[in-house]
Order: sequence, then structure tokens, then C-alpha cells
Amino acid sequence: MHTERKARWAVRQSALPTVVRSCPDCSSTRHRPSGKIRVNANGKLLDVWLLLSCAGCDRTSKVPVHERVHTSSLEPARREAYENNDLAVVRELTMSASLAAKNDYSLDWSGTWELEARTPLHAIDDPTPLTVLVSFELPVPVRVERLLMSGLGLSRSRVRRMVADGRIRLPLAPDAKARRDFELTVHAPAATLAQLAAPVAATRREAVRELGAASAVEAPPRLSRAVSGA
Ligand SMILES: [Zn+2]
Repeated sequence: MHTERKARWAVRQSALPTVVRSCPDCSSTRHRPSGKIRVNANGKLLDVWLLLSCAGCDRTSKVPVHERVHTSSLEPARREAYENNDLAVVRELTMSASLAAKNDYSLDWSGTWELEARTPLHAIDDPTPLTVLVSFELPVPVRVERLLMSGLGLSRSRVRRMVADGRIRLPLAPDAKARRDFELTVHAPAATLAQLAAPVAATRREAVRELGAASAVEAPPRLSRAVSGA
């Protein structure tokens, strides 16, 4: 009888991560992409670098993306994107965990994202399980319980208790960090479900009496929600 309930939360990008590595010219360790990519062709071989600017002294540094690769090994469209400082490619390279690992620097993701979540206020006690798809616009590692606190508007302790009680079901531990799409479900407390069985039947009988047989064939929508709110 219950219709499915779904919500979609989105981890939206608000900024690019900061590249953390030492600067040879100053004491700063924070670098931002300069917005440029450098391509150097030497015969049939190509070098490609992502250019960064030091936040402390503006010194430009280079992160090798491709070293001495044969021109035929790069898609023409990809090479063109490099040569045009394509913004999407600059973003992609700046956020690349593999590029960071290869070049021995880390990424600081603080302040790079915000959660866009629209969950109706009555959502967590509604008897129909709520399925939430959490989608990531950027590969930022975010602790799962932080998403839950923000998305459901609950305290950390309440979130932990709901996970422990099986009311929130997750594909990964609440203190794990997610960085790609996943689904979770939120279930009503056992007490709410038990209270519901009898009153729903009684209320429906009354509705049938009041509305008459013809309109009662189409059961009033969201009947269960009306009961849970009583
Ligand atoms: Zn510097």
C-alpha cells in the first residue's frame, strides 16, 4: 500500500581543492591552479603540465600530467583541451587523486562543497521507508555521518543511534568517508509501525463510510501519513 519515497541529496562543488605542497621560495604550502595547462611538443613527443600558483608568493610551479608521451597516444580532442586551457580539464586535473599521489602532494578539500538536500520535515518518522540517493558532483571525501547530520538536520548522537538501531541503513560505516554516489534508507521507528497497523484500517473504514463507495475505490492518498501525524 505504501508508495515509495525517494529523496536526492547532492554534494555540490563550491570551490576547487587546494594543492598542498611546499614552495621553494616561501613558507606557504598552499597552491591554486593558475587556470593554465602547458603543452610542449618535441617532435612526436609531448609533455603536459598543470600550472599552479603559490598562495603565498604567486610562484608558478608545474605538475607533470604527461611526460614524453607519443602524440598518437593522446586523443586529439584531449590535446586541444590542454592547449586551450579548458576549464573542465583544469578542474579535473586539480581534483585528481591519482595525479596528487603520483606527484606526492595532498589535496585540502575543506570549503569545497556543500550539501543540497531537500528532505521534508516529517520524512524520518513516516512509515514508508525513505530512499536517499546521495550524488557527488566532485570526488570530495566526506564523512558519511556528516552528510546525514546535514541532510536530516539531526545531531551526531541521534544519527549514530539511528544507525545502531537499524533505522538508517547504509552501504558503508557512518564514520567512513564517501566520495562517490551511494544510497541509504531511513526507516520509521518500530513503535510507529506497530501503532499504525490497526488505526490505518479503522481510519480507512471511516473514510469509506464518509466518502461513499464510488470515491472510496480510490483510497485517499497519503492516508498513512495522516495517521502518523495524529
Ligand atoms: Zn611561495
